[in-house]
Amino acid sequence: MLNGRELAAFRKQLLVWFRQFQRDLPWRRTTDPYRIWLSEIMLQQTRVAAAIPYYERFVQHFPDVHALAAAPEDEVLRLWSGLGYYSRARNLQKAAQQIMTKGGGQFPARLEDALALPGIGNYTAAAILSIAYGKQLAVLDGNVARVLARLGAIHGDIREPQRWVQLQETANGLLDAKSPGDWNQAMMELGATLCTPKSPQCLLCPIAQFCEGRKLGFAESLPEKKTKRATVQIILAAAVLVNGKGETVLLPPPQNAKEKASADHIPTLVSRMWHFPTVSVTGEPAATLASFLGKTMPRVQTGKWRLVPAGKVRHAVTYRAITLLPFLVEARKIPFLQGAKQVPLNDISSLPVSNLTRKVAHAALAAAVSSTAER
Ligand code: SF4
Repeated sequence: MLNGRELAAFRKQLLVWFRQFQRDLPWRRTTDPYRIWLSEIMLQQTRVAAAIPYYERFVQHFPDVHALAAAPEDEVLRLWSGLGYYSRARNLQKAAQQIMTKGGGQFPARLEDALALPGIGNYTAAAILSIAYGKQLAVLDGNVARVLARLGAIHGDIREPQRWVQLQETANGLLDAKSPGDWNQAMMELGATLCTPKSPQCLLCPIAQFCEGRKLGFAESLPEKKTKRATVQIILAAAVLVNGKGETVLLPPPQNAKEKASADHIPTLVSRMWHFPTVSVTGEPAATLASFLGKTMPRVQTGKWRLVPAGKVRHAVTYRAITLLPFLVEARKIPFLQGAKQVPLNDISSLPVSNLTRKVAHAALAAAVSSTAER
């Protein structure tokens, strides 16, 4: 617990450090709530360096809420393609549309209105409203919670609900009421640059003198690790059909609840974007995929197709470890599939696709080259 004088010194030292050493990031050069909102959504699951080019491309195409609300969803997803967690992009656009119809085109300044928008939780609302409108709302995310756990030498799982509430109260108590936007960014900046998960740089830390974890010598071991959820192994097989012109076929994301239910056999990571025909595998992969293709394309003699294994693509998402086995299927003519689109295999990014689908295309291209060389 800091007394009044200590608290004033703590705030001053952190703010002075932030104002002098903060990284120059594109969304820090604006007070436009739309751009601050966009950056916060992009940064939810993405590192700063990876988010910057996406942010710049996105604001170039959609410079304001109106442009984003009016854009075709495919275009929004295409510009998001590669960032992952595509529900963020879908929610962003839905929220932009709500802001256009109910909010007069301006991101809401009231906390309850912001929280009513899709994709906006407590952390994001506090970050946007404090930075864009100077609202006195303290942010709390994993980074800030780590800093607070170390400052207060707090043991236990920081994500445990009661502890999280206490951390939020601590964050509220520390907030600098005169500069809440800078304050929140300073806390986040400290967590991102000095008070990092491994090897915190306490010697450079502007608030080291207030840090209990450091004084007691165990700052680095905080926050304590929670028990990890067991990894679930998922095996999928994907058919990369290629015709004589080098074109392949991709299936669209499910358009309605019925289609979503029938796509449940493959992880949403694959099915929520344009994807290759994919099936979950429990037995022999090629046979499972051949039988799946036979059912999907009943009028085609899929039994005559040769499925050429194209290696393995591995992808991990939270607790799921996905092994995707691409099979190259050279077909003279690609059969008609409802809603599907044909695109060049070496340029599938004209459609919104996930990184995983891109990796599958690369593997299939490599297999196609070696199959041609062998002939
Ligand atoms: S002194 Fe070290 S552990 Fe404590 S807040 Fe600063 S960087 Fe983090």
